[in-house]
Amino acid sequence: MEVGPTRRVENLAEARKAVEINAAGRVVMPGFVDSHTHLAFPPPASGELGTEGAARALRATNGQRLETRARGYLQAMARHGTTTVEVKTGCGPDESAELKILRVLSALERDPLEVVPTFLFRLPPVSGNGFHAEADWVFRELMPKIRRRRLARFADIAWEGDPERLDCLVRCLEVARTLGFASKVHADLPGSQAAVTAAVGHFASTIDHLEHAHPSEACLLAGSCTMATLLPCVSFHSGAGNAPARALIDAGVAVALATNFNPAHTPTLNMQTVVALACLRMAMTPAEAICAATINGAHALGRADRTGSLEPGKTADLLLLDVSDYRELARRFGTNLVHMTMKRGEFIYKEGAVARREDRRHNPPVGQSAGPAVAPDSSRSLLRR
Ligand SMILES: [Zn+2]
Repeated sequence: MEVGPTRRVENLAEARKAVEINAAGRVVMPGFVDSHTHLAFPPPASGELGTEGAARALRATNGQRLETRARGYLQAMARHGTTTVEVKTGCGPDESAELKILRVLSALERDPLEVVPTFLFRLPPVSGNGFHAEADWVFRELMPKIRRRRLARFADIAWEGDPERLDCLVRCLEVARTLGFASKVHADLPGSQAAVTAAVGHFASTIDHLEHAHPSEACLLAGSCTMATLLPCVSFHSGAGNAPARALIDAGVAVALATNFNPAHTPTLNMQTVVALACLRMAMTPAEAICAATINGAHALGRADRTGSLEPGKTADLLLLDVSDYRELARRFGTNLVHMTMKRGEFIYKEGAVARREDRRHNPPVGQSAGPAVAPDSSRSLLRR
């Protein structure tokens, strides 16, 4: 991607065959990086099952069905402006289910979004003294296998807030680091302080959720290399409190925003909604929220060298929004403002037109009219690398 004043960009050799896109009156911004989702989870029909039931349903689903469903969600994300997405596993210590999800995720990579797979491990309760046999097996067998096959870059450890499992959390962070995983900690329950301390002490890339964190925990994260990934849609859907975004940012903590999209429990995949909620309910400014949803999300996934901002040398992952001022994103809650989504310099989504009466008369719709669709389009663009 090249960025710069019109004259300089027009004089580049690559500009000669480029297609010009008129963005007058529209906001051009980086594509959203959704750095925390549970997209592989079962749809609402099994929503009453809870985490264990959902994991069971996921184990019973075949890879083909899983892939078809996930592809539909990824396409909906593209229509709402997401260009890179992280997806977690989380089927419990079940090797074939975890590997099935990771294989599906690698099949979905780059079609059309960049998919970053994460191995999610829920710490089992400790039985007797010492480690649980299940955890031990995950550390000795499953995690090395996932790493050897390069199926996931991140290991995310779900912290249940149970002090008895703290040793297991720490051990998991150590194992992840030894194996070469970058680690994340899932802290969505009360008692997050121990998880924050462990994450910082073991150089975790991010600690996520923090809906129950106290503002005073911000000082534990400040100055560390661990980012906080906040998920305002979780609080919106569950009625839980919001993460202390203001305290974190004011203390100097790097904050990323993501959806936590889970078809059953957090059914919002629109990062524009995340930005609006962060402004409306967590007192973030539109500029802070947009940075958190783009470049900081890219940092949270270790992809900031190639995406998350409009800079020369990065891939052209960008959006055209149907607003003339970026601050509108904070106000226009619930409306898809994306006019066009571009991934690696190619359109993956263009807003469709609504048929007028005379169009319908000459061109009667057959069944369902074809709405806007994600269609890989190889149109050249001035912004393509
Ligand atoms: Zn989550």
